[in-house]
Order: sequence, then C-alpha cells, then structure tokens
Amino acid sequence: MFTDGRSKKVALVAHCLLNQNAISDGTAIHPCAHLEVVKTLLEAGVGILQLPCPEFCCLGLDRGDPAGAQRPVTVENTRIRRQLLLPENAQKLDALAEQAAGQVAEYLRHGFTVVGIIGANRSPSCGVETTSDQGVELPGRGVFMEALCRALERQGISLPCVGVKAGAQAAARVKALLEGQIE
Ligand code: SF4
Repeated sequence: MFTDGRSKKVALVAHCLLNQNAISDGTAIHPCAHLEVVKTLLEAGVGILQLPCPEFCCLGLDRGDPAGAQRPVTVENTRIRRQLLLPENAQKLDALAEQAAGQVAEYLRHGFTVVGIIGANRSPSCGVETTSDQGVELPGRGVFMEALCRALERQGISLPCVGVKAGAQAAARVKALLEGQIE
C-alpha cells in the first residue's frame, strides 16, 4: 500500500507559519507564509500537516480584544495565555490536540515517517523553546504544544519538536530537525 509517488514523510507545522492571516493582530511578518520553512520542507520531500491555530479556534481572529495590538506583544500574549487556560478553552485545546495526535497515529500505523513538530517560539500557544508569560518571553512551551505532547504521549508517541521565529534561523532549525539533530 502507498507505493505510489508520495514520500511517506510528513511534518506537523504551526498553522500561522503557513497562513499569516490567522496570527494575532500586529504580529504578522509575512504577507502569507514563512516561505523559508515551507521551502525547506518541500525541497526535502516532506509533506506538511498544518496544525489548527488554537487561538483562532478558541478566541477568534481578534483574540477577543480588538485593542490587543496596542499592548506590547508579550503582554498581549500573556493575556491570551490566561484566556486559553480557562476551562472551556482548555477543553477545546485538548480536543484539537487529540485530533492532531490521531492523524499522527494514523500515519505511523501505515509506516509513514512523521519527522516532527515545528512550532512558533514566543507564542503563548505554539512556542516550543520559548513562550510568553508574566509579560515577557521566557523558556517553556505554549499551552497548545503542551496539550499536543500530552495527547501524543497518551498514544505512546514521542516526536522531536523545534520552535522557529523567522528567516534564515527558521530554515536552519527546520534543517536540523530533518537531519535528526533535534530531540
Ligand atoms: S503561533 Fe499558534 S496560536 Fe499563534 S497564530 Fe500561530 S498557529 Fe495560531
């Protein structure tokens, strides 16, 4: 099965790296996508599983506050983090994470390679090495990445995770992931 033209390799990628239109007001740095991340994956023959944008799904495009962009980014990110931790939103995050983990399990069941997860550092939701809390960027994971890792663990799956920001650094981090240099 699946001995057709596909590479049988996929990566999970934070939604906004492929669709900057979903990101919180004031933080988009590209018109549409982080092309360096997309290009690096596609040139390596790795398909992209676009994760849902948890903030969009739980709080909407304006994150529940049209004035959000007027605050410093890490202050606004901290407010967003608190909103996502409310019980009704935490439940939604878990459901989104379960769905993504289920897709990973299905690929693995069929012998595909899931090369890892590419998140967005500084995000209160999708940060991998850094996130936002207490009004600053600090080491740690975003709340959705935490939920996703828990959901994967429940399926007995562990994947390497890497966080990116932009430009050449982002491409280098993705390359490191593809070369197995990220745990
Ligand atoms: S980092 Fe995550 S929550 Fe924030 S815009 Fe991107 S996909 Fe959405």
